Amino acid sequence: MAESHYDVAVIGAGPGGYAAAFQAADLGLRTALIDQEAQPGGVCLLRGCIPSKALLHAARVISEAEEAQAWGIQFEKPRIDLDTLRRRVRAIITKLTKGVQTLAGSRKVELIQARATFKNGTTLSLRSGGNSRELTFAHAILATGSRPVAPASLKIDDPRVMDSTGALDLPEIPGRLLVVGGGYIGLELGTVYQALGSEVTLVEALPRLLNGADADLVRPLHQRMEKRFKAIKLETKVDKLVPQKEGIAATLAGPDGSTSEVFDRVLVAVGRRPNTEELGLDTTKAALSSKGFVQVDRQLRTAEPTIFAIGDITGEPMLAHKSTHEGLAAARVISGKHASFDAAVIPAVVFTDPEIAWCGLTEEAAKASGQAVTVTKFPWLASGRATTLGRNDGLTKLVFDKESGRVLGVGICGVGAGELIAEGVLAVEMGAVAEDVAASIHPHPTLSETVMEAAESFHGQPTHLYTKR
Ligand code: NAD
Repeated sequence: MAESHYDVAVIGAGPGGYAAAFQAADLGLRTALIDQEAQPGGVCLLRGCIPSKALLHAARVISEAEEAQAWGIQFEKPRIDLDTLRRRVRAIITKLTKGVQTLAGSRKVELIQARATFKNGTTLSLRSGGNSRELTFAHAILATGSRPVAPASLKIDDPRVMDSTGALDLPEIPGRLLVVGGGYIGLELGTVYQALGSEVTLVEALPRLLNGADADLVRPLHQRMEKRFKAIKLETKVDKLVPQKEGIAATLAGPDGSTSEVFDRVLVAVGRRPNTEELGLDTTKAALSSKGFVQVDRQLRTAEPTIFAIGDITGEPMLAHKSTHEGLAAARVISGKHASFDAAVIPAVVFTDPEIAWCGLTEEAAKASGQAVTVTKFPWLASGRATTLGRNDGLTKLVFDKESGRVLGVGICGVGAGELIAEGVLAVEMGAVAEDVAASIHPHPTLSETVMEAAESFHGQPTHLYTKR
């Protein structure tokens, strides 16, 4: 067999692509992992999840130091050395991308830096540095991810108007920052810049932040952000951005009419689009939806039997962990195993302060569909651990099937919610009922007890709460 022939060619070395390649190699398949970037890791590692979480950690350190005042511990106002902060973030990225390279090497996955396009259902053309060559495959897994989008009115050719990639580079700490979009990215990066010292105005087109999460989970975050941000403007859109010498003039259209304000920088975070163009997919049978997502079946197979697709390019939710699990499933299917992507729930985490995390059925979705559910809530006001942290601004809620008591969904707002939600995922995936969660001894004093106590409410009263019935 020719050297440039692989059992599996994975295109895109993000958390979906590299997981797929590693799994394929572990299952004995000769595997190539192709990416146009010099470093593997994709958007998540290089300019997404990882750098943003590193910066959010820095933001948390700053806000905790501020709040230590209430405990009689006084720190001076932080002096921020942006160069060191940037270097630190870059060092984190380098460490992790090297880790991916090492893991690829140990598994004999061949890393190829090139831009890949399909020539047909078994051949890729690889271009790098002006050279071009071909690679043939028995199966390909397409994992090319997504990129930020912006409507034409917000696409201004001025470095002061940034997308998430630009904002993560920390070009400066702007005095006045406008964040457009109250979704994952707007809220996370707004939190970072506010902590670093920017005066942040956030506008969201819809009547609430984080549409998709239950309103009562979003409330504590909204309340805390309202105190820290200059303004949060809901039902507001940016009609126009005009570059001026002294800043970017933004026309904001909201419920009270139209206003104009000048900002030093603008972050546009209004969604992402799948990278499915210019891949030569038209030379294959793979089909795209009207929104540009690759259409796949439960085994992640496109309409071209040799080509699989995973991750952001297959549709919402565009989350790294969904991509990873799709990648694992695709590689198993290719190796001949009986496999498919059949996760009951995909957790969502917004790494703000407090964090918001949820999985499975939300209370609002249950109401909208008329499903018979029982919802129990445990406010963190009643949590000993939350009190010791000075962070009673949290809520844990469970959504149960009314009759069987089976856990269908979990939602958490509070510090560390992103870690806590994993128990909810396990409960839903394992088909746990209220008693399973309530009778499992949770360590005291921990925030995890809020999940147990919310479950206790299904049959009776939790220890640390009494509700008249
Ligand atoms: P998003 O879809 O989460 O939020 C975009 C928000 O912008 C929405 O609330 C929308 O109503 C609003 N909006 C749209 N047009 C607007 C306009 N013209 N003016 C004002 N508001 C407007 O998108 P995002 O924040 O760009 O993130 C993209 C995706 O990246 C997410 O959906 C998520 O899948 C992924 N992501 C995940 C994480 C995480 O898991 N923690 C973090 C960052 C990004």
